[in-house]
Amino acid sequence: MTKTIEFRLKTNRLIEKQLLKLLEKGRYIYNLALSECKKRLNRIRADKRYHELLEIRRTLKKQNQPTTEIDEQLRDIIQGKYNLTKTSIEKFVKDNAGYLKEGFNSQFVQVLADRAVDAIKKVLYHKARGVRFKGKWDNILASVNSKSADTGFIFDPDSISITYRELSIPLVLEYRNNSGYHRWYLEQRIDNYRNHNKKDISYIRLVRGIIKGHNVFYVQFVINVRPVDYTEEMVELENARIAQYNAELIQKAIEKGKPTNRLRPKPFLSSIIEYPETNKIIELIKSAGLYKEFRTSLDMGPKNMAIVLQNEQYLLSIFQPVFDRLIEYERQLRVLQRRLDRQRRAANPDNYNPDGTIKRKKHLKWKRSKGYIETQGKIREIHRLIRETRKTAINELSTILVALGNSFRVEQNSYKAWQSNYGKSIGSYAPSYFINSVLSRAERAGSEVVELPLRSALSQRCICGSRQKKKLSERLHECSCGCRAQRDVLSAYLGLFCNPNSGEWESELTRYDHQADRQLLAASHRVYSQTASRRGLSFALCLDKGHLSRSRRNGDGQVSEADESVRVYQNLNTLIGELALAKSGQLSPGIPCL
Ligand SMILES: [Zn+2]
Repeated sequence: MTKTIEFRLKTNRLIEKQLLKLLEKGRYIYNLALSECKKRLNRIRADKRYHELLEIRRTLKKQNQPTTEIDEQLRDIIQGKYNLTKTSIEKFVKDNAGYLKEGFNSQFVQVLADRAVDAIKKVLYHKARGVRFKGKWDNILASVNSKSADTGFIFDPDSISITYRELSIPLVLEYRNNSGYHRWYLEQRIDNYRNHNKKDISYIRLVRGIIKGHNVFYVQFVINVRPVDYTEEMVELENARIAQYNAELIQKAIEKGKPTNRLRPKPFLSSIIEYPETNKIIELIKSAGLYKEFRTSLDMGPKNMAIVLQNEQYLLSIFQPVFDRLIEYERQLRVLQRRLDRQRRAANPDNYNPDGTIKRKKHLKWKRSKGYIETQGKIREIHRLIRETRKTAINELSTILVALGNSFRVEQNSYKAWQSNYGKSIGSYAPSYFINSVLSRAERAGSEVVELPLRSALSQRCICGSRQKKKLSERLHECSCGCRAQRDVLSAYLGLFCNPNSGEWESELTRYDHQADRQLLAASHRVYSQTASRRGLSFALCLDKGHLSRSRRNGDGQVSEADESVRVYQNLNTLIGELALAKSGQLSPGIPCL
C-alpha cells in the first residue's frame, strides 16, 4: 500500500528563487514534450488508415465481436508509425531541451515527458477534450519528481532535510495541530534510511502551492506502508509467502528459458507501519459499542442530504445541507470571475470588437493590470480553499458513517442524475464525491453496499405503500394514512426496506418497526416545518426503541404519539457523544422532541 506523506519546507528567498527556477525549467520541458505530442497526435488524426480501422472497430463493437486484432493494428499506427510512446517522447525531449537540461535531473525530464504523453493519450481516447500548456500564471506546473529515492531530491536523515545538488532545504517539523502523525512517519523513515537502505521509499516529490498569493513549498514522500494491525508473526508469514512466490516466478522463467532480469518480483512487506488513526469520534463509537452496528441508507438531494441508521435498539436520522460552505465559495468565485473579465476588458480595449466579443486574430497581446493579477490570486486562493474544505468535509463524515454502518444503501445514480441537471458547478460535484467516498471505504471495510434501482422512486412513496407524485419543491410528506415526515428523511428511511432486485418497497416485512419508526419520521416533519430559515438547517434525531420496548411493548404494539423516545440533537457528532454517554450509564439529557 502506498501513501504520500507531506512535509512543508523551510524556505527563504534564496531557496524559493532556486526552486521557482527549477519549476520554470520543468514547465518549459513539459510544454516542449506536450507540443511534440500534439504534433504526433495531429498526424495520427490525419491518417486515413487510422480512421478506417476505427470505423471497423466501431462496427465490430456494435456486433459484439472481439476487437483485439483491430486494436493491435491501431496500436501499431500510434506507437509504431507515429511514435507516440513514452520512450520516444523522452528521447525527443532529451535531444531538444538544450540548456534546459543543465542543472535539471534527467529523471525529472523523463517524468515530465511521461506526463505529457499521458495527457495526450487522454485526448486520443476521448477521455479529455484537449490539453493545456503550463503557464506562468494559470495552470502552473506544481510538482516535479524523479522515479526513485536515489536521484533527484535526496533525503538526508541526519539533518532532516532534502538536498538537490548544492541546495539543502530543511523540513518543517512543528505542526499546529500536532497529532503525532508527522513524527510517526518521520521516525520510521529515518529508520528505513539507516537500517533498511531506504527500500520502502518509492520517490520524493517537490510540490509548489500558493497560499494567499505566497509560494509555499512542500516535499512529499511516496512510501510503502503496512497496515497497523499486522503482528510480527503475520509479517513473517506473509514475507515467507512472498519469497516463495518470487522464487517460483524465477523458477518458471528459467524453465521457459526466458530472461529473469525483466521479471517483477513482489516487494516484501514494508518496514513502515501505517499511522494508527486516533479519531476521537471513532473512539467514542467503538467505546459505545456502536461500531459497525447499523444498517445505513443515504438520500442525496441537490441541497440537503438525509441519512438513516438502524439497529436493534436505535433508529437514527441525520439531515444536513450538502457541504454548504462549498456553495458559498462558488458564489464568491462567480463574483470574482466577473470582476476578472471586467479588468481584462479595461486593460485591453483594443482586443475587443465594438459588440464586446474578442477579436478573431492570432497572437493577441494581453496586458495584465495590477488589479487583474490581484483578482487572479484571489480566485486561486478560493480554489485551494474549495479543494481543502471538500476534502475535509467529505472525509470526516464518510469516516464516521463507515465506522457506524455495516451495510449501505443508496439509490442508484440518484446523485449523478441531478448532477447533470444542476450543471457542473463545484457544489454539485461534492455529493457524488461523497457517495463514492462512503461506498468505496465501506467496501474496503468489508461492509455490504447495495445500490437501489432508480425506478423504486423512493421519494414518491409512503410507508403505507401508497404512491403519489411530489414536486421537487415539496419538502414535506403528508399522507392520508397519517404518516408525516420530512421528504428526504422518509426516502432514506424507505431505502432501508427497499428490495434491490424488484425496486419494490417491502411494506409488510416489519410492520411493528414501521409503527414505532413513525415517531421519528413525524419528528423530522416537525423540526423541519418549525424552523423558520431552512438554509443550512441540520439536525440529528434518535429514536430509542429499547426504551420503547421496555415501557410499552405490550399487546398490539400501538404507540402513542407523545412518547418521549425521540430526541433531537444539533448534528451527528453530538448525537454520537450522547449515545456514548448513555451507554456508559450516565443519563443522557438530550432534548425530547414533542
Ligand atoms: Zn401513507
